[in-house]
Amino acid sequence: MSTSPEQKVCVYCASSQICASEYHEAAFRLGCILADRGFTTVYGGGAVGSMGALADGVISRSGRIVGVLPKFMQDLEWGHKGLSELQLVEDMRTRKHLMLTESRAVVALPGGSGTLEELLEAITLKRLGLYSNPIILVNTRGYFAPLIELFSSAVHQGFMDERHLSMWQVVSNPDDVPQAIESLTSWPADARKFARL
Ligand code: AMP
Repeated sequence: MSTSPEQKVCVYCASSQICASEYHEAAFRLGCILADRGFTTVYGGGAVGSMGALADGVISRSGRIVGVLPKFMQDLEWGHKGLSELQLVEDMRTRKHLMLTESRAVVALPGGSGTLEELLEAITLKRLGLYSNPIILVNTRGYFAPLIELFSSAVHQGFMDERHLSMWQVVSNPDDVPQAIESLTSWPADARKFARL
């Protein structure tokens, strides 16, 4: 029986099977690291691409991994078969909400529109003071550089505040994720005061 409460880390990542193998390797590695550190990984439940690699990494280290899968994806047999727990939900909205709820941190690996949408929702909720935990971007192959540049531009153009740039932390590889989770200073409780410019 575990003596400490379950620490969930929510991971967003790609379903693509045709991206560079480095992305899948990073996902597998992240799964290993989270398992070794005793975190429960919560992700979208997929079997392929970085999603599948992440789950395989956790499972290879006998860690705990929870998938949150919309029923229509289960019907399409998109779900990973070897998870510790599979939560079936009605729709994408519920899935996103469940993945984030109670998470100790959010980690985004490179991905497509699905990953970016999930990441941007977490960032938006944090800006509004509705989510306050660490958000970590794993910048494999410098993938997130254009997004980070766009956020800088958003600040310069007056769409976001300089303080919003500290809502996330960028690490270059998965090995740095646990330290980023532990070392982040807390997001101010009065974030709403500067949410609107
Ligand atoms: P993307 O980064 O665009 O590949 O999107 C990843 C997200 O898209 C996941 O979190 C899911 O919401 C969804 N998704 C797309 N394809 C799949 C799939 N084959 N299996 C599971 N989830 C998928």
